[in-house]
Amino acid sequence: MSGLQDLLREDLRGHEPYGAPQLDVPVALNTNESSYEVPRTVVDAIVRRVGEVAPTLNRYPDREFAAVREALAGYVTSTTGCAVDADQIWAANGSNEVLQHLVQAFGGAERTALGFTPSYSMHPLISRGMGMTWIDGMRSCDPAVFDVSAQLAASQAREVDPHVVFLCSPNNPTGTALALDVVEAVYEAAPHAIIVVDEAYAEFARPGTPSALTLLPGRERLVVTRTMSKAFAFAGVRLGYLAADAELTSLLRLVRLPYHLSAVTQAVTCAAFEHTGDMLAMVEAIKGSRDALVAGLDALGLTPVPSDANFVLVGGFPDERATWQALLERGVLVRDVGIPHHLRITAGTPEETQAVLTALREVISTPARKDSR
Ligand SMILES: *Cc1c(COP(=O)(O)O)cnc(C)c1O
Repeated sequence: MSGLQDLLREDLRGHEPYGAPQLDVPVALNTNESSYEVPRTVVDAIVRRVGEVAPTLNRYPDREFAAVREALAGYVTSTTGCAVDADQIWAANGSNEVLQHLVQAFGGAERTALGFTPSYSMHPLISRGMGMTWIDGMRSCDPAVFDVSAQLAASQAREVDPHVVFLCSPNNPTGTALALDVVEAVYEAAPHAIIVVDEAYAEFARPGTPSALTLLPGRERLVVTRTMSKAFAFAGVRLGYLAADAELTSLLRLVRLPYHLSAVTQAVTCAAFEHTGDMLAMVEAIKGSRDALVAGLDALGLTPVPSDANFVLVGGFPDERATWQALLERGVLVRDVGIPHHLRITAGTPEETQAVLTALREVISTPARKDSR
């Protein structure tokens, strides 16, 4: 007689699923969503476009999602200055599914993935879920320094000789963008690997921050992933994408499920690109909140990490779990990302930024309650 745990794949036993708490709180600043609702112009366009496709939902959608690819290629080209064609774009239900397609096609069992911790928790989860061996690389020799050193990253890549390397810029949860020499060095040092640069937060980067998109020409193993979940305030839609060599993109058709992007998802995505300016209108405000958050945390005597994203990692908590709990009791949900003495806080509206700073000031000045035991 065997329990389900015994039937589960050996390599999955004992692992935890992705688990950011979904709690109903007044101030939710734990998953880096946009605090701003979808603008009215886009809501109207969504209603119209979904109304148009609704009668034809008896048919499968465009398997190659051509209109979505055109829209994404136009957006990437016009906002980054890096010319990307529609056949270099791939999209799926969130960039998590894009990453999964990459791992399915270029990773898989008996292959190795390398990432540089702390980084996005889904990179190892997706890799292990596909049976890969995950190697936790070091960002620097000093655990308090979160910037990746090109030399150290390249030497680890050379040693591991992985099949997939994950870089993340701006990095979640630390917030800072990568220098491009890191991407170049890792690309050269791992000649058998697909090099994935996860740029989920690219739109929030401080001025002058380069994108790995500029490195795509001539690098057929380089992939840049992005998402509409963050800057586009579209987390509920589930639309992520990548830009890469057209042949690499085409190979992903081997692993995607047929018709993976529903007709509704495609219609809603195209509606957003009718009003790109409106969709991105709050990005500057969010960057302002982020900078105000950094300044406010600094003023509280905490140690915020410089951020190119819509969140701030902040250190200086003697007991980060107790602080997390005390903030929750004040209606503020932030993220404990498992880095000792640190918490991650999403930049929300100016009011939310004030609320979290006010709550933190109270929590810090209240002596910790003694354990009753
Ligand atoms: C939020 C996030 C994503 C986005 O995932 P989606 O599936 O597109 O919502 C991807 N990468 C990183 C690093 C993130 O923080």
